[in-house]
Amino acid sequence: MKVLVIGGGAREHALCRSLSQDPAVSELHCAPGNAGIAQVATVHPVDQLDGAAVAALARQLTADLVVVGPEAPLVAGVADAVRAAGIPVFGPSAAAARLEGSKAFAKDVMAGAGVPTARAYVCTTPAEAAEALDAFGAPHVVKDDGLAAGKGVVVTSDREAALAHAAACGQVVIEEFLDGPEVSLFAITDGETVLPLVPAQDFKRALDGDEGPNTGGMGAYSPLPWAPAGLVQEVLETVLQPTVDELRRRGTPFSGLLYAGLALTSRGTRVIEFNARFGDPETQVVLARLETPLAGVLLAAATGTLDTLEPLRWHDGAAVTVVLASEGYPADPRTGDVIEGLDEADAADGTVYVLHAGTRADQDGRVLTAGGRVLSVTAIGTDLAEARDRAYRGVARIGFKGAQHRTDIAREAAAG
Ligand code: AMP
Repeated sequence: MKVLVIGGGAREHALCRSLSQDPAVSELHCAPGNAGIAQVATVHPVDQLDGAAVAALARQLTADLVVVGPEAPLVAGVADAVRAAGIPVFGPSAAAARLEGSKAFAKDVMAGAGVPTARAYVCTTPAEAAEALDAFGAPHVVKDDGLAAGKGVVVTSDREAALAHAAACGQVVIEEFLDGPEVSLFAITDGETVLPLVPAQDFKRALDGDEGPNTGGMGAYSPLPWAPAGLVQEVLETVLQPTVDELRRRGTPFSGLLYAGLALTSRGTRVIEFNARFGDPETQVVLARLETPLAGVLLAAATGTLDTLEPLRWHDGAAVTVVLASEGYPADPRTGDVIEGLDEADAADGTVYVLHAGTRADQDGRVLTAGGRVLSVTAIGTDLAEARDRAYRGVARIGFKGAQHRTDIAREAAAG
């Protein structure tokens, strides 16, 4: 099987790593990729938002499967362009990706499907925003309606700050605050059959103790020893399957990866958000635990044959990933610094490995920082404590100017 992956972050590196280990994959390509992906796949300098260019590359490579990683190409219709070229693609149409691309659309689908979520108002004027804020009271939750790379949400008890964010965004969704721990649950779907993966938890704030600004994600772990038994089955029945059924019923079937961001509140499980693609950094830990070769699973979703697939197999152990970010991330990341210690951080036995996000190689073969989130140091172990220990030992071997990371990823969960 020849596979082309679209994207260039640590999520795509994790996808490429798993695909490169699948004996069914004979050729692996990625566009645009990064310095780490280039070690396991042939990279191509193609604009990931240009559907025609991606479809042309897939045709030229005679790809059997295209896997679209990030949300922006999906919302831009890249999967539609590849599908129109007659090539199987893992990733939803632009119409179905609105589930992530518009928070207002997602709320409408959830209402139609009877999926439990925060009560919300869609607001376009300051007066509407003020009314909605006062209806729910503090803490306030204000979400940019459009795509904002995980940074469009403000949760604050400061009414002025909430109003200012609403004014800056234009159309916003203002909703009730959900208490309780968060869980990310991914499901692979072909538009009918829904196959949940294992739950993970990510860390969205920049600093230890969930302080500092929201980021794309600073680390993740799986499994969640504290999560209630039966959570996956409950979410499959109350959230994932009804949402997939509702989108099919509306004539915009969703195939690809449906990501449910959940809050386990005192009043039950609620959806915080949907995404239309693998989450970053949760993918790094979920794929670290997946034993079933990946390509066949993604191809089955792309070709509508998930119902014929054997049940997925998982490692019993645990996985932890810690993100190394640039100085100034998320507001103003500095780039262009040399990264040291990458080879030293990888364990020979595969229990620790470094996934690249914002990196690039220079002419001398040195690897430089090239983005806000730079690396995702990922480790597996028999339990969370071991995986965590290994991941942080890997982190300690890596250095670049101004590198920052959280020191408390999976700490509480590992302590039990
Ligand atoms: P989102 O982009 O919708 O995932 O929101 C980013 C983060 O904001 C989430 O991971 C939550 O931590 C927080 N958040 C979003 N919606 C709510 C809510 N209704 N109540 C409490 N926290 C929320």
